[in-house]
Amino acid sequence: MDRFYSDDQRMVRETARKLSDDVVAPAAAAIDRDDVFPRAVYEALAEQGLFGIPLPEVAGGVGLDAVTACIVMEEIARGSGAVGNAFAIPVEAALFLHHHGTAEQQKLIAGIVEGKLIPATAVTEPDHGSDVAAMTTTARRDGDDYIIKGTKAWVTFGQVADVVMVFAKTDPDAGHRGISCILVETDRPGVIRGKSEDLLGMHGLAECMLTFDEVRVPVTNLIGAEHGAFKMAMENFNFSRLMMSSMALGMAQAAMEDAVAYAHDRKQFGKPIFQHQAVQFMIADMAKDISAARLLIHHAARLYDAGHPIAQEAAQAKLFTTDMAQVHISNALQIHGGNGYSREFRVERLFRDVRLSQIYEGTNQIQRMIIARQVQKAYT
Ligand SMILES: Cc1cc2nc3c(=O)[nH]c(=O)nc-3n(C[C@H](O)[C@H](O)[C@H](O)COP(=O)(O)OP(=O)(O)OC[C@H]3O[C@@H](n4cnc5c(N)ncnc54)[C@H](O)[C@@H]3O)c2cc1C
Repeated sequence: MDRFYSDDQRMVRETARKLSDDVVAPAAAAIDRDDVFPRAVYEALAEQGLFGIPLPEVAGGVGLDAVTACIVMEEIARGSGAVGNAFAIPVEAALFLHHHGTAEQQKLIAGIVEGKLIPATAVTEPDHGSDVAAMTTTARRDGDDYIIKGTKAWVTFGQVADVVMVFAKTDPDAGHRGISCILVETDRPGVIRGKSEDLLGMHGLAECMLTFDEVRVPVTNLIGAEHGAFKMAMENFNFSRLMMSSMALGMAQAAMEDAVAYAHDRKQFGKPIFQHQAVQFMIADMAKDISAARLLIHHAARLYDAGHPIAQEAAQAKLFTTDMAQVHISNALQIHGGNGYSREFRVERLFRDVRLSQIYEGTNQIQRMIIARQVQKAYT
């Protein structure tokens, strides 16, 4: 596959791989154990300019493309799924502001790309997840301000974010056509951070609930068109699903590498377990599905870079990759036998971390709904 990469893509991949091997992977177990936001690792990614990969140079980015962002994500997540997840947040926030922000708001991009301004996105609510249009957080107009009221759930980086892109109803009676996106600085009065969520995996990402108790922000903090944020969020999902797919891919790749190494070292019945066909077949299936996932992701990313709509392709990549990663990381754990169930071995962490990828950025049930809708459109 990498034979088709451009020189730039190969160079950036080498940079990301080295950073992943030298900085990310060695920190991964401690991030998992301590469950504290890994600021030093985050800053190391920023120092290499990785948060600006898909942004044009004029916007303060590196001027590469979505394919390259996917390649970098795979490498980072190979070292740590949680750091891969952390990598996605500023990349997506900077891109979102580049596409939809005012000139003033776009000045924030530099801080995000440099890792100095930590962003978060708040869509989900305690009672409204997949059904985004049913959200109840409101932003009512009061002169030149909005007053935001409501509670958002599961906000990644919620505990550490400097700015949050909050999705709220500016017209509560208009369903998905009444949602706006408003930038909220977290030091504003009325922003209340909940306790850090105690999660199965993906530790260190400072997820929490955020309550907005009559938070007053100027109308100039509106991102994009008033009432237009549902469409912006759905378009943003196209890119973010490629990021999540690449994250799961990197974790599956790491698990396969570990399984192969372990199967060569571990002997049972007088030979390395790799020589037992049942083990070989698990590894063969991993290699096949990892290759297929990479093709699906890169195909969708190329279409995205060429400006095509990719709702179906992004959903297919997300669904296929995250499902296959969950199955094959479980099989990699199986190949480790009892050791796979121990925290001593990386595959145990991969097994916990990857599970999230089937749940967020739209659950995999929602991905199937998107794909089915597109297929129906194409064939009826
Ligand atoms: C660790 C973590 C980090 C997150 N980070 C963020 C973040 O930064 N910002 C943010 O806004 N959100 C974030 N989320 C929220 C995440 O996007 C939601 O959890 C996800 O969209 C699912 O919503 P829900 O949890 O409310 O599940 P629900 O929507 O309640 O779904 C529950 C189950 O029902 C199924 N279901 C629901 N509707 C249908 C349907 N129509 N057809 C078939 N099945 C259906 C779902 O697939 C799922 O299996 C995060 C979540 C987690 C766990």
